[in-house]
Amino acid sequence: MLGLGLASAEAASALKPRVAQQRGFTRVVLDLESSMSYRVEALGSALRLIVLGAAADAALIKVGNAEISTYTAAQGGGNAVFTFLTPQGVSNRGGYRLSSLALPNNALGQRLVLDISGGFVDLSPLGPVKPLELRAFGSSVLLDAGHGGKDSGAIGYVTEEPLNLEVAGRVGRWLSDAGVKVSYSRSDHGTISENKTFDLASRANLAAGKSLFVSIHANAIAASKQSSNCGSEVYYFGPKSEPLLVPFGPAPALLPPPNNIVLAPLPVAPVTVQLANTPIGPAAPIIAAPIPTSPASLDPTQLAAVPTTPASLIDPTLSNPALSTPTPVNSAVTSTVAEDSASQALNTGNGAFSLVPDGATNTISSLLNTPAGASIVTGPSTNTASAPKPPAPSVTLSSEGEKLRQEQSKFAASKVLSSLLGSTAASNRGVRTAPFYVIKNNTVPAILVEMGFVTHPVEGMALSDTNYLDRIAYGIARGIVDYLNENPITTE
Ligand SMILES: [Zn+2]
Repeated sequence: MLGLGLASAEAASALKPRVAQQRGFTRVVLDLESSMSYRVEALGSALRLIVLGAAADAALIKVGNAEISTYTAAQGGGNAVFTFLTPQGVSNRGGYRLSSLALPNNALGQRLVLDISGGFVDLSPLGPVKPLELRAFGSSVLLDAGHGGKDSGAIGYVTEEPLNLEVAGRVGRWLSDAGVKVSYSRSDHGTISENKTFDLASRANLAAGKSLFVSIHANAIAASKQSSNCGSEVYYFGPKSEPLLVPFGPAPALLPPPNNIVLAPLPVAPVTVQLANTPIGPAAPIIAAPIPTSPASLDPTQLAAVPTTPASLIDPTLSNPALSTPTPVNSAVTSTVAEDSASQALNTGNGAFSLVPDGATNTISSLLNTPAGASIVTGPSTNTASAPKPPAPSVTLSSEGEKLRQEQSKFAASKVLSSLLGSTAASNRGVRTAPFYVIKNNTVPAILVEMGFVTHPVEGMALSDTNYLDRIAYGIARGIVDYLNENPITTE
């Protein structure tokens, strides 16, 4: 009896994850004994952590934030199995970040730190890729870098206007190299007209006769809303919609157990984790970098490095089983753009511009230029008295023609989004429809790409990383070429 008692006492005590909301991600911390090992499985809509040689009490825990809806703990054989349902999605390349730290006080074992967020994207260098091969010879594309002039677009961890310009230039170089005839609505920080309506109409008109119109934007959400919003989406013209593509398929209420692991019965009612109003663990030390308020305060290297923070920088004191209170969103992120919509603009009606010169990576620094006190201009110029008349569309499509244009646009949107996500591992917000001016008032297939959210604490930082911009640009360009090659009907 004594022996049994000892064995029982020696059995590993049940592992309990400590879960804390941080800025832009949710942190899960587990302290493992030295006898334990682990593996992680990215399942698309869930992340599973299996700790070999560990025990867990069966539980179904509701977290209810953007990064983790619920998680289960279960005992299977000699293993503890934790399954986190992740609305923003996870893959082997994105959606989470795993670090291992030493335990405090020289204790044997390790501290696992699992950070979950759709903002964790693939920041590795693009590396050599297969050149894009255009089979649809003679194809032409109008690339529209959103905003410009007095309209800097969304402002968050980066500023949208120079970001759009930079990415459009990179996309254009890929396309040109593939043999696509590329034109741009703007080739510098200016715009066609400060009159928004005229500006947008001019941009749309520049696409006349082209094979495809592609407007490039970055997203934002007001600080008062969900700063956890992140990921990529592509629009074509239609009524404002929910995502047309369900990003990850139905989220399993209870995932099938991995082989050889038997899930213990779960409690009937989920336990609700209180993320707010609980005693505080320390806030995340590094991710919550202050939002730059002046160019001088910016260190692009440091900013770019944030999403891949070495484990040594992770606050090792996050050992309080109590949950952290969510860190208040920095009020400096004051984007007033709801979802970056109406303010897509454009350039003088001359058609093709020579684009950003090769090697113009210096423009990256301008991405970080957040003009102090700048606000987002979303409406037309107030100077309506002298407003130029918007140019009429050069072609008016019949309803049949418009229907065809929408079908082609939808096809292009799906090609570009799928290629983009394949290149970046960003969170998938789906193909959507919206009546944005430049894709509505167009005569050729037209899409609007929202690369990611400049207001997201993690993704916003990624958008200042040149590796990431390479991945975005290649993904968009490859999707465009895929569309041009596969679209059976051309407009020319
Ligand atoms: Zn925009």
